[in-house]
Amino acid sequence: MSQKNRKGKASELYRQLGRRSLGGSVQMWDDLWTGAHLATMAAGGAANGVPYGAVEDGALAVAGGRLAWVGAAADLPGAPETLARRVHDAAGAWITPGLVDCHTHLVYGGDRAREFELRLTGASYEQIARAGGGIRYTVEQTRKASEEALYASALPRLRDLLAEGVTTVEIKSGYGLTLEDELKMLRVARRLGAEEPVTVKTTYLGAHAIPPEFDRRPEEYIDTVVAQMAEVAASGLADAVDGFCERIAFYPEQMARVFEAATAAGLPVKLHADQLSDSKGASLVARYGGLSADHLEYSCEEGIRAMALKGAVAVLLPGAFYFLRETRLPPIEAIRRHGVPIAIATDCNPGSSPCTSILLMLNMGCTLFRLTPEEVLAGVTRNGARALGLEETHGTLEPGKVADFVIWNIAYPAELAYRIGHNPCRLVVKEGQVVKDGRVVRGG
Ligand SMILES: [Zn+2]
Repeated sequence: MSQKNRKGKASELYRQLGRRSLGGSVQMWDDLWTGAHLATMAAGGAANGVPYGAVEDGALAVAGGRLAWVGAAADLPGAPETLARRVHDAAGAWITPGLVDCHTHLVYGGDRAREFELRLTGASYEQIARAGGGIRYTVEQTRKASEEALYASALPRLRDLLAEGVTTVEIKSGYGLTLEDELKMLRVARRLGAEEPVTVKTTYLGAHAIPPEFDRRPEEYIDTVVAQMAEVAASGLADAVDGFCERIAFYPEQMARVFEAATAAGLPVKLHADQLSDSKGASLVARYGGLSADHLEYSCEEGIRAMALKGAVAVLLPGAFYFLRETRLPPIEAIRRHGVPIAIATDCNPGSSPCTSILLMLNMGCTLFRLTPEEVLAGVTRNGARALGLEETHGTLEPGKVADFVIWNIAYPAELAYRIGHNPCRLVVKEGQVVKDGRVVRGG
């Protein structure tokens, strides 16, 4: 099929969906954006085969915070000013779905800059650990911090992400490691979502590390995590449960107990899997029908196949790979061959990825993992949403979805992954509302 025919077919789909969503009603849309090229990132159907699900010279309408119409401007069912209360001219910009950062630990106390320096001046991991560094330092600082202090330190990190077009972010606990401190972190994450123009999905990561008071007693700590699961679920503060399955953290059998408890409490699971060795983490996620397995550098093909069968997302984290100077690449070819959806995220955390730039992750996904610009953009839109269980409502520009989108000063979508240190984000629209300088400006 020629490129032109494919595009024609895609725009026909959007036209039909748009008409259907209008439902024969003559009600006006709230906002109509014209003069834009759309990277819809929609998968399958008539959009299949069109790079980025692109619609050039497109238009996009918003009604009630949802996308009401998406398609070629030439197919609009009337003159723009007769269709919407407000008409905006994007002046040749590209519009993508709002970006999704589906794996972060952005709420934490203290930082590890001093440790970073020590390591570069020759201190060993052991010396750093003996000097009270590493994850235990972050746990200590997080426990000490008030909720207010945690909020104040996480806010600028979140705002860095929002400035680059992030409209949905996942935030994990995992540095409190007592029920009280874990819930404190999750409350901070919830408050960030309530006060900033961003959708926050929270994850309980009690099984992140063995806390100092359980030193050499990991099994007993897992007993505690399992025993507290019902209370975590009842708090309503966690949308999912995560763990760190690795020889330096918890064994698959221990993680399986955490997953059993999460499943019994009605919470979906995900996992830090196979980052430093093949701990069969990918298979474990598949066995519990998990949302995603994250990192995956050492996953075997069997694990990837199992993920494909269960529809789990492979969340790749190039920031941690870079920062830890890892050399073992995730099994990208196997992931592609088995059709496992690939998401990309910052893994924002103080120890292994002190990164608050999603655009840098797009570039690193391409340079370090040899993903294509289209794959990494799908990784922070369609597949990032899927990794959070939000595929029905977020992640693509399609009628009926939440009107989260970004207007970029770029000539072609690959520019988002190509440039380093440049932020071409012109405007963010969150649930139909224009966001300027981090604040919602009603109706633009
Ligand atoms: Zn992580």
